[in-house]
Amino acid sequence: MQDKIWLSSPHLSGNELQFIEDAFQKNWITSIGDNIDEFEFSLKNFLNNDTEVCVLNSATSAIHLALILLGITKGDEVLTSTFSFIASANPIVYCGAAPIFIDSEPETWNMCPIALEEAIKDRISKGKKPKAILLIHLYGMPAKMDEILAIGSKYGIPIIEDAAESLGSKYKGKPCGVFGQFGILSFNGNKIITTSGGGALVCHSKEDKEKAIFLSTQARDLAPHYQHSNIGYNYRMSNIIAGIGRGQMEVLAERVQARRKMHDFYFTLCKDIDGIEVFSEPNNDFYSNHWLSAIIIDVKKTGKTREDLRLALLDENIESRPLWKPLHIQPVFSNTSYYGNKVAETLFDNGLCLPSGSNLTDNDRNRIANVFKNVFSN
Ligand SMILES: *Cc1c(COP(=O)(O)O)cnc(C)c1O
Repeated sequence: MQDKIWLSSPHLSGNELQFIEDAFQKNWITSIGDNIDEFEFSLKNFLNNDTEVCVLNSATSAIHLALILLGITKGDEVLTSTFSFIASANPIVYCGAAPIFIDSEPETWNMCPIALEEAIKDRISKGKKPKAILLIHLYGMPAKMDEILAIGSKYGIPIIEDAAESLGSKYKGKPCGVFGQFGILSFNGNKIITTSGGGALVCHSKEDKEKAIFLSTQARDLAPHYQHSNIGYNYRMSNIIAGIGRGQMEVLAERVQARRKMHDFYFTLCKDIDGIEVFSEPNNDFYSNHWLSAIIIDVKKTGKTREDLRLALLDENIESRPLWKPLHIQPVFSNTSYYGNKVAETLFDNGLCLPSGSNLTDNDRNRIANVFKNVFSN
């Protein structure tokens, strides 16, 4: 059996170990130190736009803190994208609040502004105004931010931007993660850059960053003894882990280019196959890091389902994966509200994520291309 080709595997720069060693040498084996400061500084520089960055042990923790900082509490409602990884919605439940799921629109596969406004009007008419909008930029594709920001300000509802999959993506030239009141980044092992596990909360004031650090380090009051007036969490990133992030930031721009090349590869591979659509930017306002390349297969035109292709790839030891199963049809969220027209469900039924790593070789691409040729040859 040939080596496994993964959907998205870690791709280190080589300098990560040096920064980890630095932490050992200075004995900063804790959640403060140069690696944390420098990693936060490089993220802040990358994002620009008056951001302050607080690195944490995961993006899930970052979403939880963003919701707490917006005052989300028991009985509240939060509007969120149904087409996402479950980590984006779970923290809403941690707060005792209820997720209200919003469908995708077909161009970016992200939160549909029309369904969003419909939901807001309907919830208000039922006597409860939603407290926040938590949107996702799926697979690196920016959401329709102008429309969503306009709705947010029209109804006075703050926005959290889950950019866990979209570090390096841009909407109208501005990086994903800086549009909302809070932005979320992830450095999980399968993301565009990784720290093995980790995340960040993007804020827009030093005050918010300080609050995030306070809550992520057990909410300790200023006193010589341990004194607490708030419930806190243990969510801060370790200085060792942050060393991996420092090394990864040195190659982020290259990683974005390599992932975009994988998208180009699939675009070329599929352009002569009638009935396959490669997920691409609708126009020049959108710049995706193409964290994961994805396709939609028209069963009528190709005579093949996404499962036919997935299993053929698997036979050659190549990993692929159906698109996210919409959250409103997940068993755990079976009793939640949903607004939309089954766009996400149709995408889920017909779509597949393909190997997209920045470390794939020409040989890997040939193996993938051969499977496509065999499956779609007649
Ligand atoms: C990966 C991911 C997360 C969770 O990130 P962790 O760092 O693993 O907690 C959240 N939201 C989305 C959209 C993701 O893809």
